[in-house]
Amino acid sequence: MTPIVQRGTGEGVWFAPGRANLMGEHTDYNDGFVLPFALAQGTTATVAQRDDAVLTLTSHQRPGPPIEVALEDLAPGAITGWAAYPAGVAWALREAGVKVPGASIAIDSDVPPGAGLSSSAALECAVALALTELAGAAIPRRELAALARRAENEFAGVPSGIMDQSASLLGRAGHALLLDCQSGQTSQVPFTARLLIINTRAKHDLTAGEYGARRAECEEAARQLSVPTLRFITNCGDTSRLRDPILRKRARHICTDNERVLRAVTLLRDGKYAEVGPLLTQAHASLRDDFEISWPEADVAVEAAVTAGALGARMIGGGFGGSVLALVPDDRPAIRAAVTTAVAAAFAARAWTAPEFLDAIPSAGARRLTLRPPLARSGYPHAASAPGRDGPAAGATPQPV
Ligand code: ADP
Ligand code: MG
Repeated sequence: MTPIVQRGTGEGVWFAPGRANLMGEHTDYNDGFVLPFALAQGTTATVAQRDDAVLTLTSHQRPGPPIEVALEDLAPGAITGWAAYPAGVAWALREAGVKVPGASIAIDSDVPPGAGLSSSAALECAVALALTELAGAAIPRRELAALARRAENEFAGVPSGIMDQSASLLGRAGHALLLDCQSGQTSQVPFTARLLIINTRAKHDLTAGEYGARRAECEEAARQLSVPTLRFITNCGDTSRLRDPILRKRARHICTDNERVLRAVTLLRDGKYAEVGPLLTQAHASLRDDFEISWPEADVAVEAAVTAGALGARMIGGGFGGSVLALVPDDRPAIRAAVTTAVAAAFAARAWTAPEFLDAIPSAGARRLTLRPPLARSGYPHAASAPGRDGPAAGATPQPV
C-alpha cells in the first residue's frame, strides 16, 4: 500500500527574479536614478519548515551535502561561500525581530551567476519571501529589499546598492522600475518589450577593487564640487570644474547617466520605445570611456549588435564582465537573428568562448508559486519541476555556479 505523505502547512515554493538594468549604472551609490526591470528568469526556494531551530541549505547549482547551521549561531563571518546569501537573509530577518523558523531550503535557478543579472538578489529575495511568510511576518516589500541588501552587504560581505533587491521584489510585468536612490521612491514605467541579453561569459578579475575605487573617486569628485553626492550635479557641464581628468570623467558619467535614466523614462511613457536604443549606446560609450569599466567582449558585442541592426546596446552590471543588453525591434525577428549571428561570429573570429543569448522580458516580481512543493522524487525535492511559474525562461539552462 502506498503510504500517505503527511505534509505540514509550513512548506512551499517561492520565486524571485533576476533583473536587467535598462539605464543608470553606478548611479545607485551616488544617490541617483536607476531603471531596472525584473526578468522571467529567476531563483526558486523550495522550503519546508523544521521542528528544530536549524537551517539546511542546498542548491541544485552547487551539488554537495546540505549546509547546516543553527539559527542562533548565525553571525557575519560564520558562513562563507554561496550559503552566506540565504543564511544572511535569515540573520537579517532575525536582527529585524522576525521569528525565523528552522527550515530546509532547496535552491534552484536559471539566472546565470555573475552575468550582471543579479542571481545573488534573486537568491536572497526568494529566501526572504519564504522565511517571512513561514514566520507569518508581514513586511512591506521595500523593507524586505533593505533586509536582503543587508544580508548581501554585511553577511556575505559584498558592498552593493539597493537596486537589485528592489527590482526583484517590486518588479511588475510589462514595467521597468524607476528608483530614486536618494529618496527611495519608486514608480512603475510601462515597458513591454522583448530585449536580448548577451552574456559575454567573460569575467575579468578586477571587479571588487575597481568597484571600491570608483566609489572613492565619485565621493572625492562630489567633495571637490561641494555637493553631498554626485546626484546633486544637475548641470553636467559643472563637472568640467574638476581639475583632475579622471575625476572629471567619473563625475561626467554619473551626471549624464542620471540624465539618460530620466530621458528613457520620458520616452517610455510617451511610447517612443525605439528612441531608447541610441541612449543605450551612448550609455555604453560613457561606461567605456568616462567610467572605464567596460571589457573587450562587451565592446565587441555592442559594436556587432548595433551594426547588425540592434536599436542600441550597452554593458550592464558592475563592469569588467557579465552581460550586454540589446534593444532589438520587437516586430523584426530577422533583425534579432542577424544580431545573434553577428555577435556569435565576432566572438568566434577572436576565438572567444561563445556568448549565451537570453530573452529579457520585463516580468513580475517575487512571489509564492505553490502552496506545497512537488513530491520528492529522490531525496529533497527540487523546484525545477514546480508548476505555476509564469513567463518563459528562454535559453536558461542551469549552470554551475
Ligand atoms: P550576480 O548577482 O551578478 O549574478 P554576484 O557575484 O553578485 O553575481 O552573485 C553570484 C553569487 O551568488 C554566486 O557566486 C553564488 O555565491 C550566489 N548564487 C547565486 N545564485 C545561486 C544559486 N542558484 N545557487 C547557489 N549560489 C548562488
Ligand atoms: Mg549580485
